[in-house]
Amino acid sequence: MTVHTRPYVKDGIELDQVAVKGIRVTGHHGVFDAERETGQLFFADVVAHVNTRAAGAGDDLARTVNYSDLADRTADVLAGEPIQLLEAVAERIARAALEFDGVQCVDVTVHKPQAPLHVEFQDVSVQIRRDLRDGGLWADKRIGSSAGASDDPFDTGAGPVRDVLDQRPAQPVPALIALGGNLGDVEPTLRQAVSDLHRVNGIEVRAASPLVRSQPEGGKDQPEYLNAVVRIHTALAPRELLAACQGIELVHGRDRSDASGNRTVDLDIVDYDGIQADSADLTLPHPRAHQRAFVLLPWSSMEPDAQLAQHGAIADLARGVGTDGVALVDDRWPRPSAPQTPPSP
Ligand code: ADP
Ligand code: MG
Repeated sequence: MTVHTRPYVKDGIELDQVAVKGIRVTGHHGVFDAERETGQLFFADVVAHVNTRAAGAGDDLARTVNYSDLADRTADVLAGEPIQLLEAVAERIARAALEFDGVQCVDVTVHKPQAPLHVEFQDVSVQIRRDLRDGGLWADKRIGSSAGASDDPFDTGAGPVRDVLDQRPAQPVPALIALGGNLGDVEPTLRQAVSDLHRVNGIEVRAASPLVRSQPEGGKDQPEYLNAVVRIHTALAPRELLAACQGIELVHGRDRSDASGNRTVDLDIVDYDGIQADSADLTLPHPRAHQRAFVLLPWSSMEPDAQLAQHGAIADLARGVGTDGVALVDDRWPRPSAPQTPPSP
């Protein structure tokens, strides 16, 4: 299908377009009671502007947007919570589309061909274009603006580099991410966070540890944690990786104002290619990982021979901290466990 949408130009490059048109869902948006009650058909066209050339990252790392997911998210909004204006429906769809990795800009058209008008008509529609800079989304996106580095995930590195933590590696490098959480539906959230990591341009998840359960450091009255670590390879700079992790925490409702430390999901960079660095926003390796049984045990089980910069062999560190308060939950994680065989009658 030919896409007739004005190109979006970013840094002199016309971006590619991934479009889903005519998504059709019954919704209940409108200002009239009758519209709220009976509902009517809404149609949406969504054109996501993405750069599939991703300079600097290899072809395997540059991923394009998944149009099936894009269609699903759009349908969710159309079928979702009733709101009055088509403009607001379009705005929500745009916001959802911009949350997909790599989507720089989106054109959204929402049609309401059964709108209650006094005249014969064919269609009513609202069309908007939004990009990452709109609505403060830019800051939520994964790239570390706090660093003063470029916000553009496709920037080849011409932006200001403040220190070693802003430098992208020449080739993808290994890094280790620790995940943990103790609020909500923790296991599915951790599993989703792993797949979110893998979906970020410039991150490839290579392996995941078993899932463990651990006692909260903060006190017995808190819910227990689930933890795991994953081995990734990344083409991102350390600060970009931190921003990616924080973006994923945000998407899963991490609330940093909770003083008790309880969290839906926490992603920490335990190690980034052996780099040792200390700055206000990022310390590498992670300053406490080498003392944490809930990091060391799953890690040593995934990579028995691993080393941690400054601290040595993981297996030794793991022996040193002991297994206190940490127990294996699922060694097949994040693959689903085999279904239990029902007891014989
Ligand atoms: P916790 O220490 O419990 O993980 P947070 O996730 O809220 O707490 O992190 C607090 C801050 O720690 C973050 O804002 C981040 O800037 C900083 N930080 C420093 N080093 C690291 C690291 N290696 N990985 C993740 N966050 C780090
Ligand atoms: Mg953290």
